[in-house]
Amino acid sequence: QLGAFQREMLETVGQNNYKAWIEPLEFADIQDGVATFNVPTNFIGNYVSQNFGDLLIHKLTSLGETVQRVHFRVANSAAAPRVTSPSIETAAPVSETVRPSPQTRLETSKAELPGAPLDARFTFDSFVVGKPNELANAAARRVAEGGPVSFNPLFLYGGVGLGKTHLMHAIAWELQNRRPDLNVLYLSAEQFMYRFVQALRDRKMMDFKELFRSVDVLMVDDVQFIAGKDSTQEEFFHTFNALVDQNKQIIISADRAPGEIKGMEDRIRSRLQCGLVVDLHPTDYELRLGILQSKVEQYRSQYPDLVLADGVLEFLAHRISTNVRVLEGALTRLFAFASLVGREITMELTQDCLSDVLRASERKISVEEIQRRVAEHYNIRLSDMIGPKRLRNFARPRQVAMFLCKQLTSRSLPEIGRRFGGRDHTTVMHGVRRIEELRSSDGQIAEDLELLRRALEA
Ligand code: ADP
Ligand code: MG
Repeated sequence: QLGAFQREMLETVGQNNYKAWIEPLEFADIQDGVATFNVPTNFIGNYVSQNFGDLLIHKLTSLGETVQRVHFRVANSAAAPRVTSPSIETAAPVSETVRPSPQTRLETSKAELPGAPLDARFTFDSFVVGKPNELANAAARRVAEGGPVSFNPLFLYGGVGLGKTHLMHAIAWELQNRRPDLNVLYLSAEQFMYRFVQALRDRKMMDFKELFRSVDVLMVDDVQFIAGKDSTQEEFFHTFNALVDQNKQIIISADRAPGEIKGMEDRIRSRLQCGLVVDLHPTDYELRLGILQSKVEQYRSQYPDLVLADGVLEFLAHRISTNVRVLEGALTRLFAFASLVGREITMELTQDCLSDVLRASERKISVEEIQRRVAEHYNIRLSDMIGPKRLRNFARPRQVAMFLCKQLTSRSLPEIGRRFGGRDHTTVMHGVRRIEELRSSDGQIAEDLELLRRALEA
């Protein structure tokens, strides 16, 4: 597997880059979507992270691995605990130097806090605010002021890649600056469980409890992970209550609202709901464009000579899904590719370089959606469109819908027929042909088709 990986990297980055940057990497492992490489120096880790981070993810993914991030660990500290190892974890270029995380600092001054390293890129400064995330951003900023606890817990939720982790790290960094006296602990729910199980196994539950009850701010990311894990949930519940009783701030994130986490005990759910619950909505076009522009800003220093054609960012903001991680990954790849081949970033290059991403994020239009829209448009009932009636009032919209299904979905004629009340494929073919003819002879039909297509693709 790794042989193929190295060959591919060599082909992509060229002999010189490969020798200088890729060869020194020593693959360690892939766990929970994080690929870890040992690197001889921090400098190499940083450079690779900036310039080849996304490429590494891309290559590993194309080899069938599930990788969201790459993590670089300076080799001689490989045996040290994760929190103290100088670590760069990245999917995209790092525009500032990696600062030591608060946990690193705490570690040297206080008892070991089993936190996770913070990503230096995830700050409030780099968080682009738009309508979909303005509430979450405002709430996060409020908590990060480190003033008296006003809502507890702060519960942030939203889909994958919408900025939950980014906001949590931003809170931790900000608190670190404003209130260095506070013990801030950030970790994922998974790490919480891992620590808990370890404490049970090593009979160190007292230490565990003491540790978690001594923090001033506890941040638990992706709390949905402990749903259905009963003893971990139980322990989490006690930790949670102990901290709330002491008026310590708790910040939680999850991929859905508290009430919708299956396998979570009711008493925990209601506890999670009793503070402030805010969600990160899927990104809209403006926010995506804003994020892309801010990324380009950051890349300017790294790739000073790159020319970016007009309309490319708008195109990407239109075409790429709401997940910001995907958006960033696409841009990173685009820049890396353009700089490697020394070409201008044109629309054409963009489409070539990102064809897989663009294809994957093409919005899937369903047969049902088309039927519903067309029925609405012609003001008939859905059941009449799908049903057996041959009245022209129903037959024509039915044919329009069949035509659109053929055009806008990847369904075959028999599959489309089946979804239209079990009609056979010749009926569908006939309908599609009929509309094709009418499209050029009947202005009204042509207009209907255009309107419907636009509404469906919006
Ligand atoms: P989540 O934890 O919700 O799955 P992350 O916080 O890991 O998502 O965000 C995914 C990526 O998108 C990160 O690189 C993050 O910096 C970036 N990102 C998300 N939202 C924004 C935003 N509003 N502005 C800038 N970057 C963002
Ligand atoms: Mg996250």
